[in-house]
Amino acid sequence: MIEKIDTHLLINGKKVLGESEKIALISPENNELIIDVPSASADQVDAAVEAANAAFPGWKRKSFADRADRLFKLADRIDEKAGFLAKLESLNCGKPYQRMLEDEIPAISDHFRFFAGASRCMSGSASGEYLEGFTSMIRRDPVGVVGQIAPWNYPLMMAAWKIAPALAAGNTVVFKPSENTPLTMLALADDMIELFPAGVLNIVTGTGRAVGKQIADHDKVQMVSVTGSVNTGKQVLSSASSNVKRTHLELGGKAPVIAFDDCDVDDLVENITLWGYYNAGQDCTAACRLYVQDNIYQEVVEKLTASVKGIDVNDIGPLISEQQRETVSGFVERTKTIPHLNITAGGNKIDRGCYYEPTLIVDALQDDEVVQEEIFGPVVSVTRFSNTDQAVEWANDCKYGLASSIWTRDIQKAHKVSSLLQFGVTWINTYFMYASEMPHGGFKMSGYGKDLSMYGLEDYTVVRHIMVKI
Ligand code: NAD
Repeated sequence: MIEKIDTHLLINGKKVLGESEKIALISPENNELIIDVPSASADQVDAAVEAANAAFPGWKRKSFADRADRLFKLADRIDEKAGFLAKLESLNCGKPYQRMLEDEIPAISDHFRFFAGASRCMSGSASGEYLEGFTSMIRRDPVGVVGQIAPWNYPLMMAAWKIAPALAAGNTVVFKPSENTPLTMLALADDMIELFPAGVLNIVTGTGRAVGKQIADHDKVQMVSVTGSVNTGKQVLSSASSNVKRTHLELGGKAPVIAFDDCDVDDLVENITLWGYYNAGQDCTAACRLYVQDNIYQEVVEKLTASVKGIDVNDIGPLISEQQRETVSGFVERTKTIPHLNITAGGNKIDRGCYYEPTLIVDALQDDEVVQEEIFGPVVSVTRFSNTDQAVEWANDCKYGLASSIWTRDIQKAHKVSSLLQFGVTWINTYFMYASEMPHGGFKMSGYGKDLSMYGLEDYTVVRHIMVKI
């Protein structure tokens, strides 16, 4: 049981109820109503942007140490409330509580701590006399008011990826969680009020169509950062053109996993079983597109089939909504009509909330929809390949470019292939390992802009040249 669910927005340091349409949050666990969340009205979104704009000069003037101190305190609050936040996120998304508590919360507080410290260590070119009689130096300054728009798959984690670098760098923020998953961010509003000056961080809820678009359109917003689908990214880009906003886009993914015949098959199978289905596959880096070399193809298919059949759905959770389950089901039902494709595990809805069976589709060909399109559900495809060139060509033959992995005991081959792949991350003999210090971001339609790492921090700054005549 959750003691208290807060649905107030945070605008200019005050908690206020949304004045526009109510959005019903439905539990993916059992399809029952969790709570109605009133959305921000257009006037409230405007007020949030105005507040962020008014707070910007003061926040920018604060020392890095001062801003960092507040972010460290926020990280501590998140750790103190770990159990409550994990319960709330689990209620809202259906995520397994233990996963949220043990995997996500520690990473979330670490992101705030990393950016708090990193903001005090930014580096750049040396100052000097690049023209005789003139000294040049480089500054990195905050951009201004940043609009940040998040998806529903890792609500608090995506908020941390966005808010921590933006605030650490001295920007002020208007943050919009997904309309499906606003609860954990709203639950932190009291902490934000205590830790940050009014207007530095504002939280408004509502649909992308209304609230998200208004933020992306707003002429006092200087940068917009969105994590979401490709379509949303395109719409935000077109909104951003109105005042030539900076944009930071993290969009979809369809991660290839290349398994060479000298790899450790058992290790591969264990990792795909974990990371192809984690969070019910609702992950832009999910290990969902497996390419397996001829000699081990049969062995991998047999072992992976047995392993996927053994997944306990309580460990991966449901899909976020009935609509998302319908989308996933649509992909699998179309698969059933294609003669060369075989479903060796799963393939059906489960008669419980928005759950779907962990599904394995084998003998897939490069042009198949299940190989090309992001399914965003617990569905993995397996395709046979014969040589390295073919594996690289097929892996890269995709509109996305976010995550990839290579499985081989040959380190030269691993490095050669990783140099040929066009993905923001390539894991070698491992999967889904994130470090706050290392960047996350994509190629192609996966978008651009980096989350995490010094690169993420730099994305929320503008490089300036200052020259003085001496
Ligand atoms: P979505 O695109 O439907 O929504 C994302 C956010 O954008 C939501 O807050 C939504 O309200 C808002 N939005 C929608 N239309 C908008 C508009 N026109 N203007 C402004 N805001 C708008 O995505 P989703 O369904 O919440 O999340 C799933 C998608 O996110 C998948 O495609 C997934 O791959 C992607 N994703 C990517 C990453 C990454 O790091 N690259 C991480 C997580 C999720």
